[in-house]
Amino acid sequence: MTKATDIRLTVRQQAKKRRIEKALSEAGLALYGSVEIRRTRCGNKTCACQTNPDKLHGPYIVWTRKVKGKTVTRVLNDEQLADYQPLIDNSRRVRELVSELHELTIEIIEADSRRRGRPGRSGTASR
Ligand SMILES: [Zn+2]
Repeated sequence: MTKATDIRLTVRQQAKKRRIEKALSEAGLALYGSVEIRRTRCGNKTCACQTNPDKLHGPYIVWTRKVKGKTVTRVLNDEQLADYQPLIDNSRRVRELVSELHELTIEIIEADSRRRGRPGRSGTASR
C-alpha cells in the first residue's frame, strides 16, 4: 500500500482514481482475446475447399488469443459465444481502465513538487 502522505493528489485526481478503482472492482471476469467468424480450408488436398471458395468449411466462431507470443485459437459454439462475449468486452474495459490508471499516475508523478532534483546531482543517471 502507498502511504497517503507521500503522494499528493488534487480533488479531481482523487475522484478519478476512485472512479477507476470502483469500475475495476466491478468489472468481473475478463477473458483475454477476440472473437471472429471464419471459414476455413481443411488439410485434405482432395477436398473441394482447396479450390472452391464457396466450399470453405464453416462458418466457425473462433476465439483467438496470444499465449507467450503464439496465437492460440479455439472454436466456440453459439452458446459459448453468448456466455463469453461479455467477458471479452470486460477484458477490453479492464485494459482501458488500467491504461487510464497509468495515465493518471504519470500525471500525478509529473506534478510532484518534490521532483526538482538537478540531473546528475547524486552522481547517478537520471531518467
Ligand atoms: Zn475441406
